Amino acid sequence: MSEHPTIGSTLEGTVDRHPDRDAIVYPRKDQRWTYAEFDRRVNRLSNALLEAGIEKGDRVATVLYNGSEMALTVYACAKIGAVFTPLNFRLPAGEIEYIVNDAAAEMVLFESATREAVEGARPTLETVDEYVFIDDDRKGIPAYASGFYDLLESGSTSRPDVRVAEDDVYAFIYTSGTTGRPKGVVHEHRDMVEHNLLCIAEGRITRDDVGLSMMPLYHCAELHCNLFPRVHRGATNIIHHEFDPQAVLEAIEEHGVTLVFAAPTAWNALSMTAAEMDVDTSSLRLGLYGAAPMPEQVLENCMEQLCEDYLQAYGMTEIGPAGVFQPPEDQLSKQGTAGLPALNHKLRIVEPDAEPDREVERGEIGEILIASPCTMREYWNRPEATERSLREADGTTWYYTGDLGYRDEDGYLTVVDRKDDMIVSGGENIYPAEVEDVLFAHDAVDEAAVVGEPDDEWGELVTAYVVADGVDAADLDSFLLESEHLADFKRPRRYYFVDELPKNPSGKIQKFKLREDEAGLEPEVESVA
Ligand code: ATP
Ligand code: MG
Repeated sequence: MSEHPTIGSTLEGTVDRHPDRDAIVYPRKDQRWTYAEFDRRVNRLSNALLEAGIEKGDRVATVLYNGSEMALTVYACAKIGAVFTPLNFRLPAGEIEYIVNDAAAEMVLFESATREAVEGARPTLETVDEYVFIDDDRKGIPAYASGFYDLLESGSTSRPDVRVAEDDVYAFIYTSGTTGRPKGVVHEHRDMVEHNLLCIAEGRITRDDVGLSMMPLYHCAELHCNLFPRVHRGATNIIHHEFDPQAVLEAIEEHGVTLVFAAPTAWNALSMTAAEMDVDTSSLRLGLYGAAPMPEQVLENCMEQLCEDYLQAYGMTEIGPAGVFQPPEDQLSKQGTAGLPALNHKLRIVEPDAEPDREVERGEIGEILIASPCTMREYWNRPEATERSLREADGTTWYYTGDLGYRDEDGYLTVVDRKDDMIVSGGENIYPAEVEDVLFAHDAVDEAAVVGEPDDEWGELVTAYVVADGVDAADLDSFLLESEHLADFKRPRRYYFVDELPKNPSGKIQKFKLREDEAGLEPEVESVA
């Protein structure tokens, strides 16, 4: 019988090959561990978790910012078959309550920055037996919790005696909650091992790479597309507690960082900050992005300020997340596309919500379906949602992405927008991303989000929320008219000028909050004729 790898064994393989290479560098705590040192600590934590009563299949939830502790916890869980359940560190108590109860977690790890929210949720968390606190500011560990570093020291360094199989559950990863309540995505070890190999191949990752993780590690984009493949390969990982553009740029110079992943909004901040700093980013060989569309202007600024080559990934939590890649050699010739299906992936465009055999013609817009070797087992506790998103046809399981897109004559995928964000105004389909792209090209516009507002005459009225300085609706409207990139009927009829847009911590704009007026904004409203 062949021996199939798990997330725990990918680390063990690296320790065998490169015990003395740097694995984790966490400047905030002056920690620098080789792979052998990192693995010894992972074993300690695994054994300590077993001692604390965590068994294979139990859910271990984290409400943590980035840190070496996140890296230790995910591998420690993997080695004993505990189900890693990372939560967004910015969630308020009510959302923590929802996810921890939904996952029925046995343990919750948290830190000073998330203490208030976790304490707010605590009275309702009935499944949780143990709280583990990372005593960051040495203000003391709450009486009801144990200390992370005490726990770590208590465990033995020997490899934990648990057999984990490739089809055991590795994690519940909750979706970003961009379109509503987060859903728990159940991933098995083999999904992630397969996904690591894809990312290693597409990013051409070697042991000499130095990656910087400053996007949230609770999200699959940073964790699965970046930290995991780099550890699998034996590269070095610098970890930043949270995203600070200036600190990122300084770290690139100081550590000779070669790989950085960032959401498009974060790349935008990086290029704007770099323009005002004297910093050497020449070590950077590849910028990675995904999670949302990258406006053309932002990509151009980044190419000028930061690094020449970019790798785009398109996908979602449910498939790993990466399922489509655009390599650097296509970034100019196929600008605007998300690229081609990843190795061992299949792509299909069908009429929205229709059966998998209802393919549209090449070039036509439809819903994107993906068949991936990294597809989730199911949504936790949501059989109906699972049934809606995973459908069988011709012996293939297709995942319904909820995104709209089309393929060009060469097969390259363009992601047009989310199905639910599409605006139908006066009987015409309008894709907000297209309007946002043009608005973004205006120098005064920092951020833009276009949504449809219910309207008696038009069905939906094209409405733009913008963060901008020194312009009014008439200026923006004439800019759109002159740009010649946008059909007349797509122009916003109403502008809301706001100080900021509602975003989740991965930087995505939560349009449902704009549509449902839940963002608590006090906009200045201007209409155009
Ligand atoms: P939820 O499912 O809870 O609403 P979410 O869909 O934002 O949240 P993720 O799995 O983090 O959660 O994000 C996947 C989505 O992000 C995709 O469905 C797609 O809409 C968008 N996306 C990801 N990569 C890209 C990309 N390269 N270009 C455009 N959009 C992208
Ligand atoms: Mg989604």
